[in-house]
Amino acid sequence: MIDLYSLTLEQLADLLESWGEPRFRAKQIWTWLYEKRVASLDAMSDLPKKLRERLNAETQLGTLDVETELSSADGTLKRLYRLADGQLIESVLMEYDDERRTACISTQAGCAMGCVFCATGQMGFSRHLTGTEIFEQALYFARDLEVRGERLSNVVFMGMGEPFHNYEPTLEAVRRLMSDLGIGARHITVSTVGLVPMIKRFADEGLQVKLAVSLHAATDAERDALLPVNKRYPLHELISACRTYIEKSGRRMSFEWTLIQGENDTPEQAHALGSLLRGLKCHVNVIPLNPTGGYHGGPSASGRIEAFIAVLEEYGIPATVRIRRGIDINAGCGQLKSAVLNRRKIKVGGAPESD
Ligand code: SAH
Ligand code: SF4
Repeated sequence: MIDLYSLTLEQLADLLESWGEPRFRAKQIWTWLYEKRVASLDAMSDLPKKLRERLNAETQLGTLDVETELSSADGTLKRLYRLADGQLIESVLMEYDDERRTACISTQAGCAMGCVFCATGQMGFSRHLTGTEIFEQALYFARDLEVRGERLSNVVFMGMGEPFHNYEPTLEAVRRLMSDLGIGARHITVSTVGLVPMIKRFADEGLQVKLAVSLHAATDAERDALLPVNKRYPLHELISACRTYIEKSGRRMSFEWTLIQGENDTPEQAHALGSLLRGLKCHVNVIPLNPTGGYHGGPSASGRIEAFIAVLEEYGIPATVRIRRGIDINAGCGQLKSAVLNRRKIKVGGAPESD
């Protein structure tokens, strides 16, 4: 089976030509795929019946299979997809009161970076996703929204995996989000744990895509303990690469700081962060830890979060608390997959309940 979403317009025209069809049909099909966003070949009503039959026999619309789907009281939808080779990945759709509809997508099955508090890091690395597999996660949500007359407006690369460890496919997906789904660069955010050479490369792409760097600690000793990648790319190199990105893109970037009670939430650590980022055009997103099975820590209490942000204000650094959405449905990175796998170990079968 040929996945139609894996073809360029040119490749689609070549395929149709090889079937004895006129090349202009490719544009017609393209409109159904990416503008009308239909989920079935039968919906392509202006195609000749014979062509539709051949498409049905030899092609498919996407390779992702929904394994489990959970929706949260706060309007968050979480999906576990099974890929063609059986790998499981997660995507989340977040709906806000305004028009915003944000997809959070994965770039790898598992992750090789081993951040201690992250459910995906705790699983280890399985494989890279292809550009099409990354792109399709957003496209599937866009298709579902289309049925309700809504549009996918934003995409964040904050699901499973490290986008810059899978650089080319990630960039391919970013470009297709812009060209095929019409999502503006400013509505796309790529989050990285801090792979310095790739941050520099990304700065040279000339895209207006938002960059987020997961910092979580402001001294090398503390960051080494949470994010093993820091031993390879220590803070001074990371911040210097971020400075380059800000200069070249002209954009403000953001830093992610997962607040872990008693671990990285003291006023001293907030001062260290303030000094580290002073003068950089940036924003800090503070996210209370979503506890995971493989890590002892817990989220900071609200008083400590407020105190942390107040210190950053002294340094002129804007900071916002991001409450993790879909907590009741394991919407943290990698958590639905761990929950499903754990449950399978205990009892096989039965739909996973939200916990
Ligand atoms: N690999 C990339 C993107 C995916 S993770 C990265 O690390 O940036 C997206 C964000 O979720 C990162 O900032 C990551 O540190 C954070 N995160 C991972 N596990 C978390 C948890 N259990 N609680 C809160 N944030 C978590
Ligand atoms: Fe990988 Fe990001 Fe999780 Fe670290 S936080 S293990 S880089 S997915």
